[in-house]
This record gives sequence, C-alpha cells and structure tokens, in this order.
Amino acid sequence: MRKFKVTKKDCVTEDLCRVWMAPADGEGMFDFKPGQFVMIHEMNEEGQSVYVRSYSIASAPYESSEDFELGVKAQGRMSNLLFGAKSGDVFGVQGPYGMFKMSEDEKVVFFAGGVGITPFRSMIRNALRVESQKRLTLFYSGRTRNDLLYNTEFVSLANEYDNFTYVPILTREDPPEWKGEKGRLSRDMVGKYVEDFDAGYLMCGPVEMMDHVKEILEQNGVDVKIRLRAERY
Ligand SMILES: Cc1cc2nc3c(=O)[nH]c(=O)nc-3n(C[C@H](O)[C@H](O)[C@H](O)COP(=O)(O)OP(=O)(O)OC[C@H]3O[C@@H](n4cnc5c(N)ncnc54)[C@H](O)[C@@H]3O)c2cc1C
Repeated sequence: MRKFKVTKKDCVTEDLCRVWMAPADGEGMFDFKPGQFVMIHEMNEEGQSVYVRSYSIASAPYESSEDFELGVKAQGRMSNLLFGAKSGDVFGVQGPYGMFKMSEDEKVVFFAGGVGITPFRSMIRNALRVESQKRLTLFYSGRTRNDLLYNTEFVSLANEYDNFTYVPILTREDPPEWKGEKGRLSRDMVGKYVEDFDAGYLMCGPVEMMDHVKEILEQNGVDVKIRLRAERY
C-alpha cells in the first residue's frame, strides 16, 4: 500500500464527486490499464489500514502521469470520506487490479448505469485517443440528469469524434429540452443505435440493469458468454 494525497475535488452534485489523487511519497504514478480499479484505504495515525473499498480509475492512462481520477457516489463510510476529503488528505492506495478491459472487437458497445460509468470513461477516452479506428457506442443510464456524472463531456466527445455515439438515458426525469432517451433500456432503444449485433459488449451498473442488458443481447442473438464482459460493484 502506498500513500496518496488528494490534490483536487469537484463535487458535481449532492452525491457525486470527482476526486484526484497523486503519490504522497514523491515517487511516480503507477501504470494501469483502462478499466482497472484501485483499493482505497482509510488509515489510522500509525498509517495502518482500518477500512478499504475498491474504486475504478476514471481517468485514462495517457492523462494520468501525475495523478489519477476517481468518480465517487456518496453511499457509506469510504465514499463519504472521499466526498468530504480536502486537498492534502492522505489515503492508502493499492493496485491497480482487475481484468475488466476494452474488447478487442472493432465495434464496442458499453452499457453504464449511474457511477458504473467510471471504468468506461477511462476506456473510451483512451480508445478515442489511442485506438481511434474503433467504433464505440455508449448507453449511459441514470435516474435524473444529475446522475450522469460525465454527461457534458460525453456530449462533447460525440461531437468531436465520428466513431463515438453517445446515448444518455433518463429513467425518472422527463425534462422538456432533453435530447437523449427516456425510460428503461429496451430492445427497441438499443436497436435504434446498434445496427448489427456483431460487436463486443461491456456493462457496469446496478444488477437489475445488467440482467436486463444481458436479456436484450440474448434476444438479439449475441453469445453473451463470449462477447459480454461485466464489472460488479
Ligand atoms: C471493482 C469495483 C470498482 C468500484 N468502483 C467504484 C467507483 O468507481 N465509484 C463508486 O462510487 N463506487 C465504486 N465501487 C463501489 C465501492 O467499492 C463501495 O462499495 C461504495 O463506495 C460503498 O462503500 P462505502 O464504504 O461508502 O459504503 P458502505 O459503508 O460499504 O455502505 C454501502 C451501503 O450499505 C449501507 N449500509 C452500510 N452500513 C449499513 C448498516 N449498518 N445498515 C444498513 N445499511 C448499511 C450504506 O448506506 C450504503 O448504501 C466499486 C466496487 C468495486 C468492487
């Protein structure tokens, strides 16, 4: 476990926060792959771990030479500690860990629910910059606009990159000026944006959403054992 200090924090809504951390020991950042996570430790005064939780790295490797970013939803002990953290606060960091990674397919479709967006933000930013030929489609579902932590950024990326399609979805809010989709993910909704289902699929979000995505893909003839990867929080 290494000590990292909080360098910046941006609480975007009342329960979603972006937190940046850099090494506190003066050594360099660790290498990681898009989609990997770190274990964040709360430490006591002796520097021993007293509580630990996992968080996906939300930044891409190319922009993480000095620090890394987390996207955190306030829920319980650790997330509220991060939510309330001040610049200079120190946490233990272990990792990176995990095998959740970008599909090798030329076409990749992502399904994110709420804060399950974080590994995909790293993958998508990295892929658009480094593997620019891939065709990427992101379905990002939240109850309200406030739940879509990186909505503005994905709108800009979709405008900038022809090979990136962004489909924001609101399940509990119906704003008049909303340009995305509304309601639960459905077979029809997915079919509007995914022309043929010959693609790799990744999903991360609430269990019910992931079960539903699996069902939709199976209905469209996708061999989910081979082509669908999931990360469970
Ligand atoms: C690989 C991986 C990556 C992850 N990435 C992210 C990420 O990028 N962003 C993110 O926000 N999260 C992520 N998580 C989830 C994260 O690890 C934590 O589980 C989450 O932040 C909650 O931890 P906590 O300590 O804040 O809450 P906890 O204290 O563990 O509480 C969790 C829930 O249980 C409830 N609870 C706690 N104690 C009680 C009790 N006594 N009685 C009733 N209810 C109780 C809390 O209210 C809360 O709703 C990830 C998890 C995994 C496994």
